Amino acid sequence: MLNGTNLIDGAWVDSDHRSASVDLEGQSFAQATAAQVDKAARAARRDFRAYAGQPRQTRAAFLRRIAQEIDALGAEITETALRETGLPEARLVGERGRTTGQLRMFAELIEATTYLDQRFEPALPDRTPLPRPDLRLSHRAIGPVAVFGASNFPLAFSTAGGDTASALAAGCPVIVKGHGAHAGTAEWVARAILRAMEACDMPRATFQMVQGSGREVGTALVKHPEIRAVGFTGSLAGGRALFDLCTARPQPIPFYGELGSINPVFCLPQAVAARGAQIGSGLAAALAMGAGQFCTNPGVTVTLKGEGTEALEAAVIAGLRQTGAQTMLTEGICAAYQQGVETLRGLAQELLGGESAVAAPRSALPALFKVSARDWMATPHLREEVFGAAGVIVECADLGEMLELAEQLEGQLTATLQMDPQDMELAQALLPVLEEKAGRILANGFPTGVEVCSAMMHGGPYPASTDVRSTSVGTLAITRWLRPVSYQNLPVELLPRDLVDQPCQM
Ligand code: NAP
Repeated sequence: MLNGTNLIDGAWVDSDHRSASVDLEGQSFAQATAAQVDKAARAARRDFRAYAGQPRQTRAAFLRRIAQEIDALGAEITETALRETGLPEARLVGERGRTTGQLRMFAELIEATTYLDQRFEPALPDRTPLPRPDLRLSHRAIGPVAVFGASNFPLAFSTAGGDTASALAAGCPVIVKGHGAHAGTAEWVARAILRAMEACDMPRATFQMVQGSGREVGTALVKHPEIRAVGFTGSLAGGRALFDLCTARPQPIPFYGELGSINPVFCLPQAVAARGAQIGSGLAAALAMGAGQFCTNPGVTVTLKGEGTEALEAAVIAGLRQTGAQTMLTEGICAAYQQGVETLRGLAQELLGGESAVAAPRSALPALFKVSARDWMATPHLREEVFGAAGVIVECADLGEMLELAEQLEGQLTATLQMDPQDMELAQALLPVLEEKAGRILANGFPTGVEVCSAMMHGGPYPASTDVRSTSVGTLAITRWLRPVSYQNLPVELLPRDLVDQPCQM
């Protein structure tokens, strides 16, 4: 049974204000108050040094125990998530595996010191004209971190998702703001984390969770002076508002927001001539996957008028038509999708309609539009992300226009090249442009799946993310919660244990 309360300083805490769940009959959730957010942030600060000071192996064991407790949750969590998100069971089971896999990946990462990027410059007492001091650098945990659960990944980007796992691995206490769209799922995961904290004897405020919709909780959290960094996945408008709050604080803090992206797919002419229909079918599958509710959804396909383009278009239309209506995450997201489709309808040629399926609430059909590159470049609304299975095919008149379009792109999470060996010259011309625009560049694939590993970059120039240097997926994500500290001529007794145990040479 869910209790619908907030997890603060190791205890479940109710509040006077409860909101009924839209999806779970008879269930309500307590909205955290400003005083409760304050209490959580202070407790996190109180426990910061104790948690950050745990040996790396102890933190690794804690992360593995969280994974074990999430594995042990059984069918209850899937049932709750099914009702809250409308996502299919197979996807939710797979996402749970990804979540526990991420926790275990960060456990393994911190067992070695490599992630601390330690540097050692030994003293040169005889150097002239001045001697050099002994200098050692290591990374240290940044402090209490606030994490905003994402609506579209109730597990892998939420309560114990990549932001939480990487921050806990770094040694930072975490306060999660549960997403209102899956508050019950969030509570199941928070309970698993609490059991792991108790089993591993971690400080009480190592992990806390506050629930609530209506912006008050999120605003109070990012403005709290004890919060030292924020992880966020969500809308451009919400992320930007929270980013601005973080920079306007008396002590500004880093805000790692993963926001919107239209993930252009450049279909180069020889590849399209050789296998236009095959590219089109792949595009349709990638576009419609999960009702298009992925930040890596390929929203824009760039083609060059010529052989194979008609086959490509026909295959996208056929693939999308076959998909039919799908349930979206929330009524709000479904309404925003319908509005986005309506805007596209007024600006581009409609190849496939996206009317709502009236028989089922929160349900939407895929949509496909086509426009010339000239019009696309001249119309800002055409370049905005429509969160859902809506795609735009942008047709270029010549190669020069394709390059011009690439130059005009805003920051993206991904950019894809569909290319054959004969397209190499054009691909080589596009690559330096795409490198400036996107965090991940793919050849002959589709961007929707994001591998969780050490070589993954899931971020990009604004508005894809608010910090071009960081990723929210993969082991590099831990660097967001670390800060470098130099130790000059410090006696060995004062140095961090990691620096003494394994001094590393430059
Ligand atoms: P959202 O509106 O940005 O909300 C995400 C979280 O941020 C929620 O917990 C929300 O809390 C909080 N928040 C948003 N604006 C805030 C503000 N001004 N002040 C304080 N807290 C704020 O995103 P969503 O509800 O998940 O989805 C809505 C849209 O976001 C989608 O239609 C889609 O366009 C986009 N989205 C993008 C991605 C991506 O991966 N890029 C993922 C999911 C969604 P409250 O509930 O309290 O407002």
